[in-house]
Amino acid sequence: MLACSFLVQDNKIYMHPVVEALTGYSAEELCDLDKWFALLYGEHAVEMRTRYEAYKHTDGTYFSSTTIANCLGAAKEIECTVCRAGSDEWWFVQEKTAKSEYENTIGKLVLAVEAGANYVAIARLNGELLYVNSAMKKLMLDDTAAKQYSLSDFYSPCSCHLLMQEAFPCAVQRGRWRGKTELTDGSGKEIFASQVVTLHTDDNEFFLSLAATDVSEYVAMEQTLRRNEAHLSEVHKMAHLGSYEYNCLTRELRWSGEVYLLFDRPVASTPPPLEEILQQYHPDDLKELLELRHRAFQTGECYEKVIRIRQRNGTWRWCQSVTRPVLAENGTPLRIVGLLMDISDSIKAQQKIEGINDWLEEANLQLVEQQAVLLQMHDQMEKQVLLVNQQAAELEAQRYELEEMNRKLQALATQDALTGIANHRAFQERLALEWQRCQRYGQVFSVVLVDVDKFKTFNDEFGHPEGDNVLKRVAEILQETVREADFVARYGGEEFVLILPETLKTGALEVAERCRHSLKQEHWPLRKVSGSFGVATFQTFMTTAQELIDSADKALYASKKSGRDRVTHIDELDELPF
Ligand code: GH3
Ligand code: MG
Ligand code: MG
Repeated sequence: MLACSFLVQDNKIYMHPVVEALTGYSAEELCDLDKWFALLYGEHAVEMRTRYEAYKHTDGTYFSSTTIANCLGAAKEIECTVCRAGSDEWWFVQEKTAKSEYENTIGKLVLAVEAGANYVAIARLNGELLYVNSAMKKLMLDDTAAKQYSLSDFYSPCSCHLLMQEAFPCAVQRGRWRGKTELTDGSGKEIFASQVVTLHTDDNEFFLSLAATDVSEYVAMEQTLRRNEAHLSEVHKMAHLGSYEYNCLTRELRWSGEVYLLFDRPVASTPPPLEEILQQYHPDDLKELLELRHRAFQTGECYEKVIRIRQRNGTWRWCQSVTRPVLAENGTPLRIVGLLMDISDSIKAQQKIEGINDWLEEANLQLVEQQAVLLQMHDQMEKQVLLVNQQAAELEAQRYELEEMNRKLQALATQDALTGIANHRAFQERLALEWQRCQRYGQVFSVVLVDVDKFKTFNDEFGHPEGDNVLKRVAEILQETVREADFVARYGGEEFVLILPETLKTGALEVAERCRHSLKQEHWPLRKVSGSFGVATFQTFMTTAQELIDSADKALYASKKSGRDRVTHIDELDELPF
């Protein structure tokens, strides 16, 4: 059966292509109503035109059963229904001669619709359902009960509203509405559907067909896809990672949200023109990048590069760019896909480390310089130390020399020049020492005074130098005769003195007697030489050393008086010397 509809606006026809099949004329050939009325057979044309003109001034529907001639001149009986929607007119045209063929086909169509998975229904313009197919009935929990179905039995409240308020009026106006609806099954589960509502007419009235295809699976997939996209976008955001794609054929460029941020631009639906983008690249990077891209289009290989992107405030953002060209089999560039990753932070950290390294190198250089200066100073100091050491050695030598001289002076000061034994001064020092020791530790000591007998006459007889020789030999004999711990000194002139430490009277008399004997035994070449000895030993009542010496002197005097060449101890004298 051939049936069609067309829209008339301001006498112009906007033809459905099926009209061509019905009339054999093209849409251009039937572009206005006059051309349409010209198709009508003789009196039909006049009658229909007259009735139509009358109808235009009324509300409601115009119906006409008439005959047209197709482009080959064959007559075709048709039925026209015209209804008005605002200023638009909808013409529904149906070939009457094909009706029986239509009736044959309809049974098969119903079978197909009943067996199909799509949800199909027929509704009046007021929403009353005339027919629902098996698929729709299965949505109902209780689909056996014969009942009058309504849209709300199958569609969600929202979708019912959409169908009544938007889909049906639109289908009535434009013949068809396409959109999305949600059906619900008996358990309340939602089925997302792609919905088509189409306006139809038959002999009696206009009606609407509703065909819905379950797209829940696609909706779920779409939701998953959106979730994944959102997740990916989140990951990209966290990693400051952006992606882009450039279609070389359509010159279309697509950016992910993060790329807009890397280029310091508000996130928009389309990226800025390519020329503007390239201006944001650092000139040095751009040159190299274009060379890399040129090479990649020849090899098809991926390339990487660190690039700098100028920000609105004039600073540079560092990005790692990874790009892959997609080539056709014949090598024609198809697409460029790429990733951009913000590495500004790590570059900044790297620059900081480089700064520290520079500083360390500088510090190191300064240290090396300072070390050189220190070495120089060290050399100078070593030289100075050598000089000081040299001077110290010289000083040491001088000091030694001085000490030597002091020693000599000391010796001279304490040594008798003629005999070489201790002089009177040295005797006095030793006497004081022994006196202290005696006082402190109670160590008794004795002194012996020795006087050469009749020495004046010797000098007179043999001369003074010979007398000196005698004095030298007397000193030697006394030194040789006393014990090692005893002390011998020249007391003055031809007198000598002995200090005998830790020696009591008896010991002292023995030493004195031995000395007297030694002098006497000596072989004197010119004349015999003898000596008189006076001995005194420390007594507790003595208060000074001089008292001891005076005692010895008294004893010596006694020896002289009693004939010389003898030894007298002060204790042997009856009369005390003081
Ligand atoms: P006496 O037995 O009483 O001691 O008789 P003496 O002659 O030894 O005593 P005196 O006091 O009269 O004379 C001491 C002499 O000793 C006088 C002096 O010339 C001599 N004499 C003193 N010192 C030295 C000296 O260093 N060299 C020489 N050759 N003679 C000296
Ligand atoms: Mg004398
Ligand atoms: Mg004498």
